[in-house]
Amino acid sequence: MGARIGMPSMPQVPRMLARKLDVAQGATVTSVLRDGGEWVLRKDSSNFRADLLVLAIPAPQARDLLGPTHSLDPDLERVGFHASVTVMVGLDPEAPRPFVTQKGEGARAWVVQDSAKPGREGQPLTAWVVQADPEWSRAYIVLPVARLADLVAPRLLQLLGALDDHVRYQAAHRWLYAQASRPLGQPFLANDDAGLVVGGDRGLGPMAEDGWASGRTRADHLLARL
Ligand SMILES: Cc1cc2nc3c(=O)[nH]c(=O)nc-3n(C[C@H](O)[C@H](O)[C@H](O)COP(=O)(O)OP(=O)(O)OC[C@H]3O[C@@H](n4cnc5c(N)ncnc54)[C@H](O)[C@@H]3O)c2cc1C
Repeated sequence: MGARIGMPSMPQVPRMLARKLDVAQGATVTSVLRDGGEWVLRKDSSNFRADLLVLAIPAPQARDLLGPTHSLDPDLERVGFHASVTVMVGLDPEAPRPFVTQKGEGARAWVVQDSAKPGREGQPLTAWVVQADPEWSRAYIVLPVARLADLVAPRLLQLLGALDDHVRYQAAHRWLYAQASRPLGQPFLANDDAGLVVGGDRGLGPMAEDGWASGRTRADHLLARL
């Protein structure tokens, strides 16, 4: 299967999928409870009630919400994750651009010239994304994001033959549960009596397509029961 690229940017894919949905963003659910045959989700000081609950979040976070005595906990505990440190660097367009993608190891395991993707023409800076490998990420993920960017950006410049003066922007992102290293081996888990399904990419594998496949199967499962 060829690479799928969101245009003009990757978030366009979920934006398009969610265009008819009522989505609350920037809202962290801090607890989920069963009450009178319904789910009660707590967010800040407000509650949200629902008949069905679909948890499409990393297994460790699903475990935190459901609690250690939940019947699905032993299955969720089996799922393993790789951490990922990813750094974005914006360079002056004059800086060298010797390649579009390059695989390596350590801090520079996967280097992508993001602005070379289709639909990114005319951007003022050359955007690079540098992903560290799981070992490097695990060792350094505790550092502050600014420090991580300071560590990785010079390694990118060295690889490209670019100069400090070319850097216009740099930022790091830390994903504790970036990609499934040990997926569940099935698309989702269900507790039909309680109207609960738990899934995501972690069911089948580490890629967005795995999350999509799990989501489709979860939807079929729920629709068959409505
Ligand atoms: C750096 C990086 C690069 C990647 N590159 C690729 C790639 O090139 N190709 C590819 O196919 N895949 C890639 N992946 C993997 C891809 O991003 C995932 O497979 C995909 O995002 C999984 O989708 P999902 O909906 O299952 O889960 P997620 O995208 O993880 O979505 C879960 C959402 O739930 C939210 N959430 C968690 N807990 C709570 C809570 N308590 N309350 C409210 N919200 C909560 C999270 O904030 C998150 O938005 C990459 C992942 C990373 C980290």
